[in-house]
This record gives sequence, structure tokens and C-alpha cells, in this order.
Amino acid sequence: MSETPMPTPSSLSQPQNERPELSIVVPVHNEADNLPLLIERLKAVLSTAVASWEVICVDDGSRDGSLAVLRLLNAADPRVSAISFSRNFGKEVAIAAGLDHAAGAAVVIMDADLQHPPETIPLFLAKWREGYQNVYGRRSDRAGESPMKRSFAKAFYRLFARFGETELPEGAGDFRLLDRKVVDALRALPERARFSKGLYAWVGFNSIGVTFDVADRQFGETKFRFGKLFSFAFDGLSSFSTVPLKIATWTGAVIAFISTLTALFFLLRTLFFGTDLPGFPSLIVSIMFFSGIQLISLGLIGEYVGRIFAEVKRRPLYLIGERIGFDARTVDYPRGDALPPLIR
Ligand code: UDP
Ligand code: MG
Repeated sequence: MSETPMPTPSSLSQPQNERPELSIVVPVHNEADNLPLLIERLKAVLSTAVASWEVICVDDGSRDGSLAVLRLLNAADPRVSAISFSRNFGKEVAIAAGLDHAAGAAVVIMDADLQHPPETIPLFLAKWREGYQNVYGRRSDRAGESPMKRSFAKAFYRLFARFGETELPEGAGDFRLLDRKVVDALRALPERARFSKGLYAWVGFNSIGVTFDVADRQFGETKFRFGKLFSFAFDGLSSFSTVPLKIATWTGAVIAFISTLTALFFLLRTLFFGTDLPGFPSLIVSIMFFSGIQLISLGLIGEYVGRIFAEVKRRPLYLIGERIGFDARTVDYPRGDALPPLIR
């Protein structure tokens, strides 16, 4: 771990009970090696870009000592605070928790692995000061990704554009700046299946993209392997579209129609020409085909029912094990558990 500078009087001069101009929310899952450098680079940028700031790292059940690193970083500079979850809840939920705890007039969400260059933040701020409330980073390309991941992403965006109920700007990710108004709107959305890319677009507001170059991951490796990405994509589609359900209905209807025609054909043929072949293969094939279709449709409905079940249980979105650096502050702003009970 590189050493973190001790707080200097000037770095502590920021009033502790005032809302900072900018909050940075960072979801963290096993990023101990990346954190010191991330904070160092953030500080370099933020010291000139804004009047006051805070960094909120949400430790999403790391097992590599990330929390200990965060504790050190907080001791060195109280503007760096942390929340630690009781277990791994996933990046989307970590972002939601960060937004719940962020007090800034604007909030920037960024990854911990330095793929989102802190140097882009002043460009976000410039757009925000021009009056944009939802400033999203748009990756210049997906060069660093495997061809499979890239074509999968492309297919997903195409599907979403076709069937989703909201328009997703292509290449926009979680690296973005949100005005307080947008943050409050997002926090008021009660759903548990948080497909934040869709939610950012759904809330609307004055939006604009800023292009940035995705850097290579500093240390460690990606936590989003193919299987996880696939279920993430399905989450996204199913929470913003009911078309998959309709596909099941349509397929069923078309197949039922075709099978009626086939039955008619066989009936007439038997009437006019009598039976000749018993035709076992076609029988087996059709039975298998129809049971397959039925199972697929049932499965699809099951997926939606499962999601409804998850929503109606109204479990809390996340459980906090520990807050680091929040008690020292007396920020007069609802954080986390001060939310109305109906929402979380
Ligand atoms: N992350 C998280 N919880 C998880 C997985 C990832 O908070 O369960 C964080 C991770 O620490 C990083 C960000 O989400 O800050 C993006 O993760 P990663 O770099 O693995 O994803 P990729 O950049 O490959 O999409
Ligand atoms: Mg990454």
C-alpha cells in the first residue's frame, strides 16, 4: 500500500457540518490495492475542481482487507468515509447505498479500479455548471474487452432499444455525475432489482454525455464474468420490458395455429387416403417441441413471478455492518436509515 499523506490544516478547513459541493460514490469489492491510488488521484483533481468534497466508499463484502485500507484512508483524511455491507450485495446495491449516504449538491459515481479516470470529473462539473443535471460518461470504445463481451453488449443494447420502455444511451455506464435532484429522484424509486443504467435514463432530467477513455484495470481482475453479465442483462430487460412475456404468448399462439393446421391436414389425408404410415418420429419430435415451448414459457413467467416475489417481500436493499467516518460529521441531511420506512 502506498502511504497516504497526513491531513494538513488546509485539507481539514472544510466545515464538517455543511453539505459538500461534490460527493464521490465508489462501490468497492476486493479493491484494497487500488484504493490508495484512487484516493490520491481523486484528491489531486478535486482540490482545484470544487470548493468542498467527500468520498463515500461502499465496501461490498470485500475479503481482501479493503475495509482496513478504508479505515486508514479515513484516519488520514476524514473527507474519505466508508460504509461496509454485512456481505456482498452487488455493485448496483452498493451504488444505491452510496447515494443514500451522499450529501453533496452533486454526486459522481465511479469504479474503484481506476478504469474511470478521475481527471474526467472536471469535464462533468463543467457540464453540471452549465445546467445539466444528469451528466453521463460515455466510453470512447470497448477496446479493452473481449470480442465476446463486446458483441454481447452490442446485442443487449440492440434488444433494449427495440423492446425496452426507456431509451439507453449507448456506451453510457455507471461513471457519471448526478445533480441532487436526480439523486433524490433515484432514491425515491422503490424497486429492489436495481438496473441503474435503466433507472438513470428513466428518471430523465437534463442529460448529456461526456466521452472518456476507459483505462485498464489497475490491479486485480474484473468481477463481471460472462454468466454474471448475462443475468445482469436479463435483469435489465425484465425490469424495463414485458416483451419477453409477450414473446412466450406469441410463440405459443403461432405454434398452436400451426398444429391445428397440421391436425387438419392429417385428418383430411386419413379421410381421403386412409392410414399408411404410423409416423412415430414426427410424433415424438412434436411432443418434445411443444413440451419445450411450454417449459420455456413457464420459466419466463416464473422469472417475472420471482422478481415480483422479491419486490413484495420488502426486505431492506442492503444491511450495513459498519459506518466509518460518519459519526464525526453532523451533516444535517438524511443518510441511509433516515429514509421513510416505506421506501427502504
Ligand atoms: N463491484 C462491487 N460489487 C460487486 C462487484 C463489483 O461493488 O459485487 C465494484 C468493483 O469493486 C468496481 C466496480 O464495481 O469498483 C466495477 O467492477 P469491475 O471493475 O469488476 O467491473 P468491470 O469494470 O469489468 O465492468
Ligand atoms: Mg472495472
